[in-house]
Amino acid sequence: MIETFKELLEEADRILITTHKSPDGDAVGSAVACYEFLKSLNKSPFILIPDMPASNLMPFLHEVEYECFADFDQDLSIFDLTFCLDYNHEYRVGEEMSQIFTDLNTPKIMIDHHPQPSDFCELTISRPEVCSTAQLFFEVLEEARLDSNLNLKACEAIYLGIMTDTGSFRFPSVTAKTHNVLQKLILNGVVPFEIHEKIFDQNTSDQLKLRGYAVSEKMEFIKDAPIGLISLSMEELSRFNYQKGDTEGLVNVILSVKGISVAIFMMENEEGKVKMSFRAKGKYLVNDFAKKYFNGGGHKYAAGGYSELSLEDTKAKLLKHYSEIL
Ligand code: 5GP
Ligand code: MN
Repeated sequence: MIETFKELLEEADRILITTHKSPDGDAVGSAVACYEFLKSLNKSPFILIPDMPASNLMPFLHEVEYECFADFDQDLSIFDLTFCLDYNHEYRVGEEMSQIFTDLNTPKIMIDHHPQPSDFCELTISRPEVCSTAQLFFEVLEEARLDSNLNLKACEAIYLGIMTDTGSFRFPSVTAKTHNVLQKLILNGVVPFEIHEKIFDQNTSDQLKLRGYAVSEKMEFIKDAPIGLISLSMEELSRFNYQKGDTEGLVNVILSVKGISVAIFMMENEEGKVKMSFRAKGKYLVNDFAKKYFNGGGHKYAAGGYSELSLEDTKAKLLKHYSEIL
């Protein structure tokens, strides 16, 4: 596998890097790390993202060449290799961008940590036990003995991916290997607190008020089940001048309540759908439930999905079926 990885890299010059819709810290981190790595090999990489990430992730994209799919007008035939990072199915790039998989004529390398990858890439490097795609990317380069090509920006991007996908190094997916990789990143010059501040200390007053409102007015608990939920309508969100990313982490606040093992967050989005986030711990798993009822999936303890019903009907559907999680 590592030999194939090296061969595909050697043969390629113009390389397209893609990641999933609503890119999170791991998606942006992996893509930027990959971009910087390829630059250091004197390749010509380009990052194509389905849509913009939250504003606190934007500084990480400042010095790379990237575009959102809506603005992308390059001829796909110029590329000779494609990276698919932090996603396991073509449809995770969103309906519009998924057309590239029909048009692209390059080999594809998937590097990802979501379970059950679909078989659409020539090389699939899938390790669901690894906490983040960013860590997995580092591991792959180590195994290929190419990790000396990671510059400071690449190391910072990997740190970002690991930090955000592990809830700041606390989820069950964190292992000694995670800390071993973090040590190497820090020895390469990463200053941890700077990245934490860049991501977590960027709240606006509106964002904090929205969180306060959601927790004090909208958090509910299902009687006799360790399940908590918050639902927010478009109207409620707009009261706090909602911007993409403003509700990030709210689902984990529910999970932090004593005695709660399953957290569900749902909100109306710009597309007129209800976006859902599921988190769990211990013996409770949420990815199959998200897949069965809410067109989604993800990891066993962190999954997402959506519903085309109204917010009220989505909640009713959830309340009808929640016992299947227990
Ligand atoms: P989040 O709740 O942060 O949006 O997503 C949590 C996890 O669930 C992520 O790892 C993501 O990969 C997965 N996920 C989120 N939304 C979807 C979706 O619509 N479909 C699938 N298959 N996975 C999703
Ligand atoms: Mn990830």
